[in-house]
Amino acid sequence: MTMRKAFKYRLYPTQPQRRDLDKTLMLCRQLYNAALQERRDAYKKAGRTVGFYEQKRYLPEIRAELPEYKHIHSQVLQNVIERVDLAFKGFFRRVKAGQKAGYPRFKGKGRYDSFTFPQAGTTGVKLQEGGKRVLLHGIGSVKVKLHRPLEGKIKTATVKREGEHWYIIFITEVDPKPLPPSEEAIGIDLGTNPHFLVTSEGEMVEAPRYFQKAQAKLATAQRSLARKKRGSNRRRQARRRVARLHRKIANQRKDFHHKLARRLVNRYGTIVHEDLNILALSRSYVAKGIHDAGWAQFLAILAYKAEEAGRRVIKVDPKYTSQDCPVCGHREKKPLWVRAYTCPQCGTLLHRDVAAAQNILAKAWTGPSGETLRAFPQGNTPRSPGL
Ligand SMILES: [Zn+2]
Repeated sequence: MTMRKAFKYRLYPTQPQRRDLDKTLMLCRQLYNAALQERRDAYKKAGRTVGFYEQKRYLPEIRAELPEYKHIHSQVLQNVIERVDLAFKGFFRRVKAGQKAGYPRFKGKGRYDSFTFPQAGTTGVKLQEGGKRVLLHGIGSVKVKLHRPLEGKIKTATVKREGEHWYIIFITEVDPKPLPPSEEAIGIDLGTNPHFLVTSEGEMVEAPRYFQKAQAKLATAQRSLARKKRGSNRRRQARRRVARLHRKIANQRKDFHHKLARRLVNRYGTIVHEDLNILALSRSYVAKGIHDAGWAQFLAILAYKAEEAGRRVIKVDPKYTSQDCPVCGHREKKPLWVRAYTCPQCGTLLHRDVAAAQNILAKAWTGPSGETLRAFPQGNTPRSPGL
C-alpha cells in the first residue's frame, strides 16, 4: 500500500519569471471562466451539460488560435478544465444531497492563485542542480529551497501564489516505513491554555514560545491596521504585514505539529486521544476552545504519521474523562478552574489534565466484554507530576 505525501517549498523567481507566473495565472483564470461560461450557457439555454472530455477537445484549437496559450503546458490547461469539472460535480452532489448549493462562480482577479502540472513526474517539471532549481515548462529554471528532502515518486506539482510569495507543492507517492514495534501506550488530553496537550505520563506540552511571540506581534499589527485610513498606502502596507504574520504563524504551527507528532509516533505503539467530533459537541470544548483550530490539524498529522509507521491511534469518547479518578474510578464533577485532582475516595493527587489523559488511555483498554482493564501498562502507573 502506498501513501500520498505533500511537500511545499518556497520558490524564488526573478522579476521576469514573476511576470510570466502572473501571466500564466491570468490566462488559466480566463480559461477557467470561459469554460464555466460555456457550461452555464449550455445548461441554461439547452438544459444540456457539457462534459470534461468535450471541453478538453477544444484545447488544441485554443492553443493554435491564441498564441499566448502556446507557452502553457497542455496538461496545465487540461487541469484548468478539470477544476471546472470538479466545481460542477461538487455542485451537483450538493444539490442531490439536498444541501444549499451555490452555482459554480467565476473567479475574479486574485481569486485564482495556482496552476497544476498533473503528471509532474514525467512531464512539465524537473528538479535541477540537486534540488537547488526547478525547471517549469513555460517559465524556465526557477530557484527553489528544499528545506526538507523530497521523498517518494512525484505525481503532481502545483505552483501557487500566496501574497507576494510563490511556492511549489509536490504530491508524491511513498511506501510506508513501519517502525520497529513498540509496546508503549500513551493517552493525550487536548490541553487547556497554556498547554497544547497533556499526556498520561504527566508531560505537559506548551505551544512554543516563539509562536506566542508571533501571535502578540500579530495582535499589534492588526490594531495598527485598524487605525490606518481606508485606501491609503500605509493601510496597504499594514495589511501586507498582517498577511505575512498570519502565514508565518500558520507555518510555525504546522512545524510544531509535525515535530510533536513525530516524537509521539517514534516512541509509542499506541496513542489514544479524545474523539474531536464527539468532543466538539461537549461543554468542555468551549472551555478548551483556544487551541481548537490547531487540534484538527495536529490529529490529522498524527494519524498520518502513525499510519505510515505502522502505529495505532485510537479515538475515544471523552465523556467523563475529566470527572473520573483514574485510580479508583470515583466520579465527581469539578469546575474547570480546579487544576488539581484530589480524589476524596482514594486520596490520589494528580494534575487535572493528567488524570484526564490517563482516563483517555484507560478507555482504549476497554475489552470487547465492556470490562475495563484498569491496569496501566507497565512503567506507566499514575503519579503526581509537578502541579
Ligand atoms: Zn480515587
